[in-house]
Amino acid sequence: MSTPGRILVCLKQVPVPGRGVFDERTKRIRRDDDQTVTNPPDLHALAQALAVRAETGWEVVAVTMGPPAAAETLLDALRRGADRAVHLVDRRFAGADTLATARALARLVAREGPDLVLTGRWTLDGGTAQVGPQVAELVGLPQLTQVTNLRVGDGVLSADVETDVGREAWTVALPAVVSVGRGAEPPWVTEADPSAVETLTAEELGGGPRDFGTRGSPTFVAEIRHQARERSAAEYGGVGFDAAELLEAAFAPVAPVAEVVVPTPSREIWTVAEPLPGGGLHPASLEALACARSVACDLRATVVAVLPCDQPHDLPRVLYAHGADRVLVLRCGEPAEYRTNLVTDALSTAIAARSPFAVIAPFSARGRDYAPRVAARLGLGLTGDFTALEVRDADTDEPDLLWLKPALSADVIAPVIAHSTPSLGTLRPGSFTTRAVRDQGEPDVEFADVTATGDDLCTAVERRVEVPDGPRLAAARLVIGLGPGLGTGARRVAERVAATRGIALVATSAAVAAEEAPPQLEIGPLARSIAPAVYLGLGRHDLGTLKAVKAAGRVIVVDPDASLDEFAGLVDAVVSANVEGVLLDLLLATSGAAAS
Ligand code: FAD
Repeated sequence: MSTPGRILVCLKQVPVPGRGVFDERTKRIRRDDDQTVTNPPDLHALAQALAVRAETGWEVVAVTMGPPAAAETLLDALRRGADRAVHLVDRRFAGADTLATARALARLVAREGPDLVLTGRWTLDGGTAQVGPQVAELVGLPQLTQVTNLRVGDGVLSADVETDVGREAWTVALPAVVSVGRGAEPPWVTEADPSAVETLTAEELGGGPRDFGTRGSPTFVAEIRHQARERSAAEYGGVGFDAAELLEAAFAPVAPVAEVVVPTPSREIWTVAEPLPGGGLHPASLEALACARSVACDLRATVVAVLPCDQPHDLPRVLYAHGADRVLVLRCGEPAEYRTNLVTDALSTAIAARSPFAVIAPFSARGRDYAPRVAARLGLGLTGDFTALEVRDADTDEPDLLWLKPALSADVIAPVIAHSTPSLGTLRPGSFTTRAVRDQGEPDVEFADVTATGDDLCTAVERRVEVPDGPRLAAARLVIGLGPGLGTGARRVAERVAATRGIALVATSAAVAAEEAPPQLEIGPLARSIAPAVYLGLGRHDLGTLKAVKAAGRVIVVDPDASLDEFAGLVDAVVSANVEGVLLDLLLATSGAAAS
């Protein structure tokens, strides 16, 4: 009789959302107090593991790396039905970045030999979504990220992968590492005995001092900048909501982006361009160019846009117009359909051969899939979901690049620095306004042939584009957010308003959970954060959603049942009016604006 399979579920203990506190001395988030919970997305992974066990009888083993207090997360997993629990606990693990975390977890994977490793989509504190793919790269396993509907049979896992524009059906040969995109939290079903938690030290895990913790981390949080922003809110009754004024605020002209000419460039900053299924580029590809140009002068750097794998030939021209000084097309002689190992191989080969100073990729569904693997393969520091760059010591030969990263619901900005060159980062969509900076001239395009090495153990069965405009919503100037239960009438009018250029629709997690909107439009702590000029929330809104739009220029909630004090500090106005009435005003105003 073959030995039953094993599923390893990685869970992290995180601060209670909204309660996280940074230790100013260590620049780490405090995890030694009782204000912690099990990372909710990891419970979705545990639920999937328990469902696979119900089908296969495989053992479910929960693992966490963290301080002694993190044992509570393992007891939580045991109470919800995990069979075993392993705690990687040792002072030498402290201060680990994602690569050092992944190294510790990878050693446990080698020790346990699971058929499947499941992680959450990302954590609510670091939120980089890097650890899963980095574990996969370090143990040489295939991966799928942001998975739902996971099924296991005959040594193969089948699942749906959530992309920025829809869903794809994939299969992957086991063993594999899979990050779970969304799901439910399994209930407590039993008591847990603390003595059932096995502990492992760095020594017992093997590896040297340069593998783990701060010493094994190619990145570090350089400082903590507090930026709690209180909004002095006003409350309007039915009147006081002026749709035309709102449109004016949303579409106020933004300063043109100046052409940047670097006289004697001595470095290169690369940006990764991401073609979208059905044509065009993920808008975050152009934002990455704007981000690179924001520091090109200080760094005396050329901006190079990299197209992984051969792409339609008009894309270099779009990249050149948006600021690429050169376009590098990595030709791997394969069809342009996205595959993790293809893009990881192409980028890793090119970066290793040419050593740019920095590489910026989109924090998109694809970017979260390949960028961590590239960083793990090359042992480079990767800052996930950053929003801006700064240069320190620009006039020296070794300037520091600071990757600014919002944390703890954007109450804090944590500049991250990498010891490695190049350093890598994934840019949060919606962080930069994109503008064409050139309207003439021809791009300087270079083709480089690269080979895809890894066996391809992942197979795309079907690729569905369901929300083609999904990636564009992060760049919208006016975003309308749908709360749950608005009714089809209001949603129809909102869709008509959102059909106007520069306006986009998003949905709260509660509306997505009620299947009133596709997951690609979700904003909130378990989804994305956005920073439009104006956020207009319609209907019931929760604090998590409002924290996800905290960086917006103006935040207004229209909800007849809302009261100002429940959203104090997070909104500029609460309009207690009928949602459809406000939407019709807006529809009139947008059609008026379009006609003028
Ligand atoms: P993610 O990569 O988002 O986690 C994905 C999944 O991996 C989780 O859902 C969980 O299933 C699993 N997982 C993650 N951590 C553990 C764990 N300790 N034990 C078991 N399973 C786990 N490090 C970087 O390399 N780059 C950064 O940009 C970066 N930014 C940071 C910003 C802040 C504000 C803070 C506090 C830390 C940052 N770190 C960064 C450090 C990073 O948070 C830690 O390394 C953390 O252990 C893993 O990163 P994450 O929280 O982003 O996890």
